[in-house]
Amino acid sequence: MSNSTKYVFVTGGVTSSLGKGIIAASLAKLLQARGYSTTIQKLDPYINIDPGTLNPYEHGECYVTDDGAETDLDLGHYERFLNVPTSQANNITTGRIYQSVIEKERRGDYLGKTVQVIPHITDEIKERIQLVAKNGKYDIVITEIGGTVGDIESLPYVEAVRQMMWEFENDCIVVHLTLIPYLSAAGELKTKPTQHSVKQLLELGVQPDVLCCRTEHELDFGLRQKIAKFCNVSVNAVIEARDASSIYDVPLLMHAEELDNVVLDKLGLSKKAKPNLDNWKSFLERLKNPKNDVTIGLVGKYVELKDSYKSISEAFIHAGVSNETKVNVKWIHSEELTPSNIGTELAGLDGILVAPGFGSRGIEGKIEAVRHARENNIPFLGICLGMQCAVIEFARNVLNLGDAHSTEMSEKTNAPVISMMEEQKKISNMGGTMRLGAYQCELKPKSNASLAYNTNKISERHRHRYEFNNDYLAAYETAGMMATGKNPNTGLVEIVEVPTHPWFVGVQFHPEYKSTVAQPHPIFVAFVKAALTNKK
Ligand code: GLN
Repeated sequence: MSNSTKYVFVTGGVTSSLGKGIIAASLAKLLQARGYSTTIQKLDPYINIDPGTLNPYEHGECYVTDDGAETDLDLGHYERFLNVPTSQANNITTGRIYQSVIEKERRGDYLGKTVQVIPHITDEIKERIQLVAKNGKYDIVITEIGGTVGDIESLPYVEAVRQMMWEFENDCIVVHLTLIPYLSAAGELKTKPTQHSVKQLLELGVQPDVLCCRTEHELDFGLRQKIAKFCNVSVNAVIEARDASSIYDVPLLMHAEELDNVVLDKLGLSKKAKPNLDNWKSFLERLKNPKNDVTIGLVGKYVELKDSYKSISEAFIHAGVSNETKVNVKWIHSEELTPSNIGTELAGLDGILVAPGFGSRGIEGKIEAVRHARENNIPFLGICLGMQCAVIEFARNVLNLGDAHSTEMSEKTNAPVISMMEEQKKISNMGGTMRLGAYQCELKPKSNASLAYNTNKISERHRHRYEFNNDYLAAYETAGMMATGKNPNTGLVEIVEVPTHPWFVGVQFHPEYKSTVAQPHPIFVAFVKAALTNKK
């Protein structure tokens, strides 16, 4: 083990969406599999304090950590790959950096100095990078710089990297992810955009140590030599990053390219034994050779943009592998569902999931989908707003409370079965004002939830403002919808079930955030199993 923490910076060139998060997570996985404690951090160049206030259409899913940070969805990949929880420190935005510097300025911490991008903003960035290392005593911290090199907004981050490369000479490297496009008219892979992107980094004083080249075709030795020569990197540090059929293939592909060896060499770390990837390989083996398949309908309002439900789709992959089953997800737009088309739109599904969400758009379609699942004995999982829809549906159609609703959608409803807690009402800002992060929950023995978890005490992550209204609990339980999970400290209902139905579970929390390759989430595993039983 080394004495000092080592830093790997991952930058991106040529275009966005090259998959820096997956490359960073894959490298981290390989280093972890070699016995190095590794964490990943993402620095995002936008001005929002966090992505919590961002529309999912803009930025995909908002991922939530145990400590209640609303973060970039890449943190989900980090957790799914590494099986180590992340925290607020793992995702920093420009907004947060400036907020902190401005607070310091107002307090007078800078003693009358002019506050500037260099050194004050860059110092703040460097501090945040080193803070993750200190918090977890990690051997290696991988810091992914969001955006593309050359963007105005990422300049302070690249400058912070330049300074750290200078200050911690032997402990820092830069992995630059770039694109080698294929021109079909010429029948050739082209290296020029990569040369330019490396030049841009050089202008900013940063020489990359490793180039990961996204490509649709094989990068032959000649091309690697050419890239190496133009970009001042050794030829073995030109890594081919071919398109993969699954993101979970990428660690093995990177290992085959010896990315881990190159990185360890450059950091001066021992290569120790070969990485232990046995469990990972057996996961992939099962992923690629399913024995069954099921189709689950995901009813939501952001289905055009699948990144909005990233953690849910990944949780289905993990739970599918546990059940040796391929889970086909059918994306269903809740706005298009009506009582008259519901039978045809949801025909042939082995299970139905109603997704989390905010606001009224598509809400009636979601409630109809719950009714369809409940009345037709189709396994059902409702997550957060999906659970709230299950509660509303039951009130309207079983308790005969015709206009039952959540006060989020209808303030004047006569039956506010979902309503806001007193504490939430006091908070007026939009950002970071929900019930966020991990809360304890106690399960009712023998419920579907307790059978799934195989324990009666759990902790799950939340992100919502509204809650089950306990004034109605007795009426629900008499009519057959049970609260099978409760917060032991507040009495808030966290899980509802209908025991007479084959598998009907609504959870106020977000199980999808905690599903990883090493630990597929028990609720998803049980849901897929119920869908499989239903199919048979
Ligand atoms: N809009 C609901 C609430 O705030 C549910 C939120 C969610 O699904 N994440 O309570």
